[in-house]
Amino acid sequence: MDLMEKIVSLCKRRGFVYPGSEIYGGIQGFWDYGPLGVELKNNIKKLWWKSMVHERDDVVGLDAAIIMNPSVWEASGHTQAFTDPLVECKNCHHRFRVDEVSEKCPDCGGPFTEPKTFNLLTEVYLGSTEPKQKAYLRGEITQGVFVNFKNIVDSSRVEIPFGIAQIGKAFRNEITPGNFNFRSREFEQMELEFFVKPEEAEGQKWLDYWKQQRLDWYLGFGINKDNLRLREHAPDERAHYARLAFDIEYNSPFGWKEFEGIHHRGNWDLSRHKVTYQNYTPWVIETSGGVDRAALFFLIDSYSEVGDRVILKLHPQLAPYKVAVFPLVANKPDLAKKAREIYLQLKLKLPTVWDDRGNIGKRYYTQDEIGTPWCVTVDYQTLEDGTVTVRDRDTAQQERVSVTQLDSYFSKKLK
Ligand code: ATP
Repeated sequence: MDLMEKIVSLCKRRGFVYPGSEIYGGIQGFWDYGPLGVELKNNIKKLWWKSMVHERDDVVGLDAAIIMNPSVWEASGHTQAFTDPLVECKNCHHRFRVDEVSEKCPDCGGPFTEPKTFNLLTEVYLGSTEPKQKAYLRGEITQGVFVNFKNIVDSSRVEIPFGIAQIGKAFRNEITPGNFNFRSREFEQMELEFFVKPEEAEGQKWLDYWKQQRLDWYLGFGINKDNLRLREHAPDERAHYARLAFDIEYNSPFGWKEFEGIHHRGNWDLSRHKVTYQNYTPWVIETSGGVDRAALFFLIDSYSEVGDRVILKLHPQLAPYKVAVFPLVANKPDLAKKAREIYLQLKLKLPTVWDDRGNIGKRYYTQDEIGTPWCVTVDYQTLEDGTVTVRDRDTAQQERVSVTQLDSYFSKKLK
């Protein structure tokens, strides 16, 4: 099995990610996140929000609606220019994104048509009377920020330079969804739009600043630095709104791929929406990351094998569960009772999981595979001196810790 097959299989088996609508044969480009996947995604979002909003005094948050007045997408240029070039095989009629295929159809070897532009916006129809009102599921969460710029300036005490952060779903009618959840038709974005004075030096300063901040964020949560790089877009590659664009890329099993985009959008959006600040139109530096892609790349990057054991070396802050608690043996009522007590107490403080199946070795194996950084075992000594064994996922080292100290022991480790 190659690495991607192993990741996909682990995700399904352990409850990170399932194919969407699976019992009806699935639906291409949609994924459901199981009990562990939702924890991982929530952790990514929470940590992003903490560093982008809560720890700063120049960024505020927003949660705009997914469906907006279609005029927004006319003004932003998306109804015209939010396109990918598409080719169709003249033989089997399968369709592909031009940049993902060579001369011949990968499915049947047939020749392609000339490239056509294909708009990625997903249409929806609203209301009960005909003709129904056509609208779009947002193709990027960004526009919600620009159309609320004035509301935010008027209702909160922000002054340029400042940013507006948002996390939410976006939808793209991708021609070729694939590589697991890397390219989906429904996904979540986490974005910052940072507004600056329209001056070259100012734009450059904040562009450089945010490139570094975002790289450091991924490194800080454990992405191997050799698997991360920054690549500047060539002029013909830039999106219609971008003056300058960089991708933070990840060295994935399917090549170097975009993790997050850092874009200098200039005054494109605010001028299209005819929005000004004082007497000028600010420029925008954007950091635009994908929550699903981050989840996938964190999983790939932390995946390791020792013999036939899998260890997911997720950063503890990202791990779905921080601690697993078990009694040394399940059939001793006094051990089980004590372990249960400790589990219920820890659970109030930290995401904690209970396991009393199989033997200790199997339980360690299971927890390693889902990335739980610490396992607590309650044994006979616990009943005598009130200490437990804490075992570390990455080093397999064990130490005795007093039950009364467990809270502070784990909070220290998590810092
Ligand atoms: P690509 O070139 O891969 O199509 P893009 O340049 O169109 O991506 P942006 O518009 O810059 O992507 O979107 C910002 C971020 O949103 C991306 O870096 C990615 O993390 C996420 N993203 C975009 N499209 C998808 C998708 N189809 N599935 C999952 N995540 C996506």
